[in-house]
Amino acid sequence: MVSKQQIIQILKRLKKYWPNPGAMEIGNPYQNLVGVLLSARTRDEQVLKLMPGFFEAFPTVYVLAQASEKQIESHINTIGMFHQKAKNLKKMATDVVNTYDGSIPSTMEDLVSLAGVGRKTASVVLVASFQTPAIAVDTHVHRVTNRLGWVKTQTPEKTEQALLKMIPDKWKHTVNQVFVKHGRYLCISKPRCWACPVRDLCAFKKKNLTAPKNADEILTDIQRRERTLEQLREHAV
Ligand code: SF4
Repeated sequence: MVSKQQIIQILKRLKKYWPNPGAMEIGNPYQNLVGVLLSARTRDEQVLKLMPGFFEAFPTVYVLAQASEKQIESHINTIGMFHQKAKNLKKMATDVVNTYDGSIPSTMEDLVSLAGVGRKTASVVLVASFQTPAIAVDTHVHRVTNRLGWVKTQTPEKTEQALLKMIPDKWKHTVNQVFVKHGRYLCISKPRCWACPVRDLCAFKKKNLTAPKNADEILTDIQRRERTLEQLREHAV
């Protein structure tokens, strides 16, 4: 079993390697929640590009609650599942206004009562908006933590339960931030262990340690994509 010391060592190294905040940590709780809801099964870049126009049209949860689904759709129709997402946004905003006096709730229990909000979305909002220890586990976090040997789990839900027990509170917010990026760029299906800053601490048996001929090109492209994402994030609201 991996020790707490090793967990912290890996998180520290990855935090240094992937220093940028999560892509949907864009502003206040309302903005963060909308960003995460829109990003379901959609590339972060696509969501971040439409954010400035969206928040110009719907600057507060009250304005969003007053809007029609059609009006909301017209601002998000460049991304997948926009009908469903518009429906959820309208319902979420109405519930926040009617049940929570217009403030995005700050507990897991209340957040998951909102339309379209599951534990993963709620965890991102808790961490980004309320500095509450939580761990949002998506497929990247699930895959990387299994490869590292931290958990042996079949589903992201089980991974979340296991990680919540083993990661110290102080480090919980770092988990999603670094593993989403690590899983997106390096710990991909055929992992790029040859560039991984924690390969000496990783339990994965089938490490891919041979750098391809175009390794430099791949790493430069990763840096470029991260820079673009960060610029979009900074100008999202
Ligand atoms: S060494 Fe390879 S498998 Fe392990 S975390 Fe790094 S990229 Fe993933």
